Amino acid sequence: MRVFIGLGSNLDDPAAQLESALQALDALTESQLIQRSSLYKSPPMGPQDQPDYINAVAEIDTTLSAHELLAQLQALELAHGRTRRRHWGERTLDLDILLYEQLQIADETLTIPHTGIAVRPFVLYPLAELAPNLCVPGRGNIAELCLQCPADQLEKMEKTL
Ligand code: ATP
Ligand code: CA
Ligand code: CA
Repeated sequence: MRVFIGLGSNLDDPAAQLESALQALDALTESQLIQRSSLYKSPPMGPQDQPDYINAVAEIDTTLSAHELLAQLQALELAHGRTRRRHWGERTLDLDILLYEQLQIADETLTIPHTGIAVRPFVLYPLAELAPNLCVPGRGNIAELCLQCPADQLEKMEKTL
């Protein structure tokens, strides 16, 4: 299955957190890293008294189900020292399932496509970098979504891989 994962961090050397998480995604059971976006920097969403975020998107190929993948990603967040402090608060690592093939899911633990996908520049632009022709089920194609989502506070960083 073709799956896109959003990565974010704003604590404890965020860029290093993301690089390490990308390696962990490649090492994930039943999964393989296909490609990764550049890193992007942007101001925090939610509470403003926290550091800027570094975000990226990864494409993986996996035979895990969406719920199995979520459990694996949550274990990875914990392994990276994730603690829940406050809603949309600072974190060492956040891993969100953005898209799982063209699946649409909404249950107690999982909403796919991810709820923020169409309105968050730090998700849309790295996603468009990897898959410029992508269609987001229920939302439209990625190029159109980007046009509706200004990226003025999003800073693309030099690609390190
Ligand atoms: P947001 O979801 O708005 O980006 P967040 O990433 O800070 O906020 P978390 O605290 O990381 O939110 O996650 C809260 C819950 O969201 C998780 O326990 C998980 O069950 C649920 N969730 C629903 N849909 C998804 C998804 N597509 N990917 C990851 N988690 C999801
Ligand atoms: Ca998130
Ligand atoms: Ca999350």
